[in-house]
Amino acid sequence: MIIDLRSDTVTKPTPGMLDAMMRAEVGDDVYKEDPTVNALEERLADMFGKPKALFFPTGTMANQTALKLHTNPGDQVICDSNAHIYHYEGGGASFNSGISCKLIDGHRGMFTAQQVIEAINPPDFYHSPLTKLVEIENTANRGGGSCWDFEELKKIRTVCNEHHLGYHLDGARIWNALMAKPETARDYGQLFDTMSVCLSKGLGCPVGSVLIGDEEIMQNALRIRKILGGGMRQVGYLAAAGLYALDYHLDRLGDDHQKAQDIAKVLSGLDSIKSVAPVETNIIIFELKDKNNDAKFLNTFAEKGVKLSSMGSGKLRIVTHLDYTNEMHDKFLSVLKQL
Ligand SMILES: *Cc1c(COP(=O)(O)O)cnc(C)c1O
Repeated sequence: MIIDLRSDTVTKPTPGMLDAMMRAEVGDDVYKEDPTVNALEERLADMFGKPKALFFPTGTMANQTALKLHTNPGDQVICDSNAHIYHYEGGGASFNSGISCKLIDGHRGMFTAQQVIEAINPPDFYHSPLTKLVEIENTANRGGGSCWDFEELKKIRTVCNEHHLGYHLDGARIWNALMAKPETARDYGQLFDTMSVCLSKGLGCPVGSVLIGDEEIMQNALRIRKILGGGMRQVGYLAAAGLYALDYHLDRLGDDHQKAQDIAKVLSGLDSIKSVAPVETNIIIFELKDKNNDAKFLNTFAEKGVKLSSMGSGKLRIVTHLDYTNEMHDKFLSVLKQL
C-alpha cells in the first residue's frame, strides 16, 4: 500500500465519477455547444452569485487569464511573497501579461489591508509601475492551508475600491476554506471581481478549473483563454467530473481536515520535529530540527511506502485528500509513532 501525501492532486477519479464522465452529453465547446460544460459554468456562477464562469484545463491558465484581464503590460499586481502566481506559474505573469509582482511579506501567506495600502505605487509618480490588481490565495498553499479572516478581505476590498484596483481570488482550495469557515460561496462572490476555483484538488477531478467573474471583465476571458491555447472541444467529459464532484465530494472535505489535525497532533510530539504550523484545513507544514535532513526524512518514509513533499530548508508538506483512506490514515499514524 502506497500512501501518497505529496498533494491533493494525486487522486484518481472514483468509479462513480468515471461513470458520470462516460455518460456525459457533449458538443463543441468552442461553439459553446457543450451542454455539460455549460451546465458546470452555470452551476458555479450561480453558486458564487456571479454572472459568468468559464471552464479551464488548469488553475494556472485560469489565474493567468485573470491577470491578463486586469492589467496591461508594465502594470503591477500586489500579492503575497508565497503566492502561487509568483512561485508556481512558471513566471507566467511576466511571460503572458508583461506585468511584475509587488510582493508583500505576509504571515502564513496572508497580509493586511494596511500592507496593501503601503504596497500601492503612487499613480502620479510616473517612474513606478502602475498598480492595477490585488491577488489573494484562499486557502494559502505555502501558508500551510491557512484561511483568511473575512473581515480583512473586506477591508482589502475597500482599499481596492478607493484605489481603483482589481481584486482576484486564487481559490484553488476555496472549498477547504468554505468548509473550515462560516462564510458562504456567495460571500466570496460579492467581494471579488474574479476568482479561480480548482476541481482537481480536494474535489478529486482528474482535471479542470473555473474562472468566475463579473460580466464586463469576463467578456474578454474567452479570447484570452483561446490565445493561451485553451479553446477546447468536447470537454463535457471533463466538466461532468466537476458536476459529479460538486454533488458528492464537497461535503466530505471535513474528513480531510480531521485527518490533518490527527497527523499534526502526532507530529508535534516527535523529537525530530522543531515545529508544526497551525493546521486549519488539509495541509500540514512542519519543520525538522535538522535543516539539512529533508532528503533523509523523506527517504525514511519512502521506504515505508509513504510519500511526502519537501518545501526546502527543512520544511516538509503533507496534504490529505479523497484517496487517503481511513486504513492509510491508521497505518501512517502508526508509522509516525514508531519514528
Ligand atoms: C494548484 C494550485 C493552482 C492551480 O494549479 P494547476 O496545477 O495549474 O491547476 C493555483 N493556485 C494554487 C494556490 C494552487 O494550489
